[in-house]
Amino acid sequence: MSDGTETGADVGGTGTERAARRDEAVRAAVEQGLLGPGTPIVGLLDVAGIRESAAALRAAFDAVTAPGTPVLHAFAVKATPLVPVVRLLHEEGIGAEVASPGELALARAAGVPPERTVLDSPAKTPEELREALALGIAVNADNPQELARIDALVAGGTSRSPLGVRVNPQVGGGSIEALSTATATSKFGVALRDEGAREWVVRAYLDRPWLTRLHAHTGSQGIPLTLMAEGVAETYALAEEINERAGRRQVDTLDIGGGLPVNFASDETTPTYAEYARVLREAVPGLFDGRYGLVTEFGRSLLAKHGTVVARVEYAKNAGGRPVAVTHAGVQVATRTVYAPGAWPLRIAAYDAKGLPKAGPDVVQDVAGPACFAGDLLATGRALPLLEQGDYAAALDTGAYYFAHHYAYNSLARPGVYGFGADGSGGVAFATVREAQSVAEIVSEAGGAHRDALTSPPGS
Ligand SMILES: *Cc1c(COP(=O)(O)O)cnc(C)c1O
Repeated sequence: MSDGTETGADVGGTGTERAARRDEAVRAAVEQGLLGPGTPIVGLLDVAGIRESAAALRAAFDAVTAPGTPVLHAFAVKATPLVPVVRLLHEEGIGAEVASPGELALARAAGVPPERTVLDSPAKTPEELREALALGIAVNADNPQELARIDALVAGGTSRSPLGVRVNPQVGGGSIEALSTATATSKFGVALRDEGAREWVVRAYLDRPWLTRLHAHTGSQGIPLTLMAEGVAETYALAEEINERAGRRQVDTLDIGGGLPVNFASDETTPTYAEYARVLREAVPGLFDGRYGLVTEFGRSLLAKHGTVVARVEYAKNAGGRPVAVTHAGVQVATRTVYAPGAWPLRIAAYDAKGLPKAGPDVVQDVAGPACFAGDLLATGRALPLLEQGDYAAALDTGAYYFAHHYAYNSLARPGVYGFGADGSGGVAFATVREAQSVAEIVSEAGGAHRDALTSPPGS
């Protein structure tokens, strides 16, 4: 797939191949009845594409690290919290980065062993810490209070884990404030440039010989590669300082986080892992010379391009002179896009009732979702072949942070998610990744078992 030197083509194959696979999958989903009047929305995952991205990630770092350097690529489970996806990545040599008891349970259910799991959340309870340390999962302490809890567990002999501290290099934010983790006032990690903080971190390590890792995650989507590299460079410099003052190589592993931005504007994969690895090598050559083991935590860039939400056009109408396609995909699957359309625009592809790509001419139209509020729009004023009743609208690049992040507005059901691949005889085969939520499940999750809880409370 990749020797780490290609541009554009080294994540998930070429964009053209990926788009062709997607078109075939949409048609097959309609033909095979996965998608239709009774099942008007599905999430589709391109298994070959996910495998190719995983391979590209490994190749990119193999190309810049000294032979024998331990490198753990840990998938940020929050990007696509689906057990079969985490399992597929595990098979591709990718571990798991988890940030809640739920995510840890998903990683364990997928069979990711503790030594390939990293726990990073900002609000870990004592019980979570105890479990992680007993299992031997790597933990990055977010702050001094958390480190004090870890001190107690280590003193009690509970720990088998590689342990580190998360720092915020405070190198600044990117174009999306909500995803910029290295601003001066970010809630994550120990803010390194605050008065006295750097010295506190160094002392924390000198006082605790068992702190052997250092972690930073400079941001996600919207952060330029050079700024991400600056965050890594700051972290590396701190590790060097700690090791020099300790007089030994106490920090032996650097966790450089994730955050490679994804291009949502076309089928091209840019930037690539290979580009980022080269930027890092240029900015921080010592990172790759074999003295440090490495951990990465990519999420969005491994999955985004490989997921598609496909939704049926229930009605096609006109309002104020503008065509509006009312589909079954809206805020429940594309929450960020609906609430922050400027920051999270999605490409929409038009397919006809048979699942074939629609031909032009382009017509300026709105693509709406099913929820009962006016802002529930996947796209506004978008030029596309006219969507008609019974057609399908596909929201592209939605494999990360979209259809697996259900938002239960209007009690809209979680859609089914299916992986697709070649069936060996020229067609497309699907595998169920997650069943669609049933109406009975919606009722049950909405307190259905407690119908009379408020009308006949205990003691009344
Ligand atoms: C969200 C997150 C990631 C993954 O970020 P992506 O932008 O999806 O690559 C990695 N590490 C930490 C600590 C995170 O919070």
